[in-house]
Amino acid sequence: MTHSHDVVVVGAGLAGLVTTAQLVGAGRRVLLLDAEPPASLGGQAFWSFGGLFLVDSPEQRRLGVKDSAELALADWFGSAAFEGSPTDGPDRWGRAWAEAFVDFAAGPMRPWLHAQGVRWFPLVQWAERGGYLADGHGNSVPRFHVTWGTGPGILEPFVRTLLDAHAAGLVDVRFRHRVTGLVTTDGRVTGVRGDVLAPSRAARAVPSSREVVGRFELAAPAVVIASGGIGADHELVRASWPASAGRLPDRMLQGVPDHVDGSGIVAARGAGAALVHADRMWHYPEGVADHTPVWSRHGIRILPGPSSLWLDADGERLPVPLFPGFDSLGALQHITTRGDDHSWFVLDRTILGSEFALSGSEQNPDLTGRDVRGLLDRVRPGAVGPVETFAERSQDFLWADTPAELAARMNALTGTDRIDAEALERTIVARDRQVASGLGKDLQVTATAMARRYVVDRLIRVAPPHRLLDPAHGPLLAVRLSVLTRKTLGGLHTDLEGRVLRPDGQVLPGLWAVGEAAGFGGGGVHGHRALEGTFLGGCLFTGRTAGRALAAATA
Ligand SMILES: Cc1cc2nc3c(=O)[nH]c(=O)nc-3n(C[C@H](O)[C@H](O)[C@H](O)COP(=O)(O)OP(=O)(O)OC[C@H]3O[C@@H](n4cnc5c(N)ncnc54)[C@H](O)[C@@H]3O)c2cc1C
Repeated sequence: MTHSHDVVVVGAGLAGLVTTAQLVGAGRRVLLLDAEPPASLGGQAFWSFGGLFLVDSPEQRRLGVKDSAELALADWFGSAAFEGSPTDGPDRWGRAWAEAFVDFAAGPMRPWLHAQGVRWFPLVQWAERGGYLADGHGNSVPRFHVTWGTGPGILEPFVRTLLDAHAAGLVDVRFRHRVTGLVTTDGRVTGVRGDVLAPSRAARAVPSSREVVGRFELAAPAVVIASGGIGADHELVRASWPASAGRLPDRMLQGVPDHVDGSGIVAARGAGAALVHADRMWHYPEGVADHTPVWSRHGIRILPGPSSLWLDADGERLPVPLFPGFDSLGALQHITTRGDDHSWFVLDRTILGSEFALSGSEQNPDLTGRDVRGLLDRVRPGAVGPVETFAERSQDFLWADTPAELAARMNALTGTDRIDAEALERTIVARDRQVASGLGKDLQVTATAMARRYVVDRLIRVAPPHRLLDPAHGPLLAVRLSVLTRKTLGGLHTDLEGRVLRPDGQVLPGLWAVGEAAGFGGGGVHGHRALEGTFLGGCLFTGRTAGRALAAATA
């Protein structure tokens, strides 16, 4: 049979776009399908902060950061806690992808992107600081490189390639084509089928109609699933959450657009693909409701510096080392194991000014708009504009002059009396005493002081140590934090080329998977925990690898 295309790619997010770029670069003809309207081209990556995990980069070296592939791999394995043997079992391919990804992040990733015009903010950030022992979770050094132009800046070269290839007749893009199943012939995937959805003028990431106006079935020599994860389907997220980590709350925020619904994974499974590690996910405990929502239950993640006190719903500090920005999953599991739907940051105006950043392109207009003047605000005292707007408009931000007044506001917001005013004051005073000592035994206080050895933390991310009850730094602020769903760490099981495997471990011919749908490689490149900036990087790497392998396979 002759086909008008060599490959069908399902999903026009970053992973699908990178795969497409590799294929058309090798002269292959691609049919790219997406359920959403053209306004949403690029998927989640458009909304992302554009943070990339790069290893031993020129930006790190200029800041005096001593990184290496060996250190990064040790950090990765400490965080992943892969299970079973390296040569067998469901973590075999995730582990192999992890090794290959760290090599990529320490080697060709930056020059490859740089040659396509991508650049980075010179101040490398320190995400997931860990706080355990040397072989435990976390980044030993700062590795989070924010792209100049944030998420849209990463998408740019791949969208450009798509448009050029479209003009050259190498790519056909069909929006509003929602894949619901795969066609198989004699055990091989030979096409896709699905619903044609009604045309939609919905703006980017605004939920679009699901009205079906037709059906389609398209044959293809090869199909790539690039349809993203499951973060918008809260029922599925709850059902997949491991029982050993308690229960995800009934009230959660959504950190991804509604199209992140897992439907592509379901279609692949229906054709015999294996899904592994469905219970490994990367959601955040530091969500606040967006004051100007775009998608359903829209939440924003606070990227916190280390100084805020982190209290559970009863006002108790989270245990060591669950300080802000140290171990996201550990903190989330602590909260869900308690059965709570929220926790609290308690801080003051000075800490808000230095330490609160918001994840997402639209919350960082200076970086997204490549606005150098706007960026200077980051080194001036006070919070940047979007953080100030949240502080003014969000019902989750509560200001007060005294701990007693703060406790009353916290209780009023939740409609409970779980915060005891005197206990809250005792907690703050005890912490302040440690700071005033100049040294101290409180590990959060000492970790915060240590963070300031790093020039970027000192300049823009970590407030000078001070007492929370010092009126010069007031008023006090409590922020109610909700669980925010985002990433899927498990996914379709793939080998090192991106070929999808069956439950028996054999290749399912004709089917490939990339990006979040593939657990960013191998069905679980992160293992149990991520180091941040590895999701966009995982889309780039899986798309590049599978695209190249598939171009060779369809030569
Ligand atoms: C606010 C925000 C901030 C982030 N910040 C960062 C960061 O700084 N660093 C980082 O590494 N990661 C970050 N991420 C995560 C990262 O952006 C995503 O993990 C990544 O972009 C996922 O890309 P993808 O191509 O795999 O999937 P998606 O972007 O979800 O794209 C999938 C596409 O497939 C389409 N689709 C889905 N199902 C079907 C179907 N059945 N039929 C047809 N089409 C379908 C969808 O419409 C969509 O266009 C962030 C994410 C968000 C939302």
